[in-house]
Amino acid sequence: MKKTNSNSMTKVGLTGGIGSGKTTVSNFLLNYGIPVYNSDSQGKILMNTNLELKNDIVSIFGESVYDNGILNTNLLSSIVFNDPKKIEKLNNLVHPKVSEDFNQWIEKNNNKPIIVKEAAILIESGAYLNMDKIILIVSDKSTRINRVSKRDDSDLESIEKRINLQLTDDEKIKYADYIIKNNSSLEYLKLEVIKVLNKIKDVN
Ligand code: ATP
Repeated sequence: MKKTNSNSMTKVGLTGGIGSGKTTVSNFLLNYGIPVYNSDSQGKILMNTNLELKNDIVSIFGESVYDNGILNTNLLSSIVFNDPKKIEKLNNLVHPKVSEDFNQWIEKNNNKPIIVKEAAILIESGAYLNMDKIILIVSDKSTRINRVSKRDDSDLESIEKRINLQLTDDEKIKYADYIIKNNSSLEYLKLEVIKVLNKIKDVN
């Protein structure tokens, strides 16, 4: 992937399927002083704070998705994860707001040599096109399902349904500059992250 900006900042996109370990890797990166923008958690914040976005969500999904102005994420998830057209509609509303917010965040970090944007659907949304390098975290489906069910106390069937809505790892690999396998221990994962970080610094 080519550099998208003329200054010396390298924008790194970090992606992977549900439960692959994106946030775990982001936390390692934050510990190494690399600023990370978490698109998924920022998207949720914007769905609660951006008035224009809230109005658009209500107009499509109804008043009941907000309880006293707070998004009922379980209700919204149950609506969209059963209907791929609805998930697309929601993504089409949230994605431009996240992009706007990300651009403002970049301005605040414009003196940093490397910044990272974490996003579950970085490739599917096209956001990868604005990144200089892409890191893909891959992990076996059964491992991911086990990890997420433990983390969220959620049922295996609904996790598998969400996994099946995303592109497969085989499809995502085509877009990746660096692939990190996360089927082993956290110590192993940390070493893999350091290796990739050093490679990015080398070409920076
Ligand atoms: P999501 O897309 O659902 O947000 P994610 O890709 O951000 O998931 P994480 O939240 O980082 O994934 O990881 C999922 C769970 O698995 C977390 O509870 C995390 O602590 C755990 N986990 C991740 N990697 C490992 C590992 N190598 N060993 C043990 N547990 C792990």
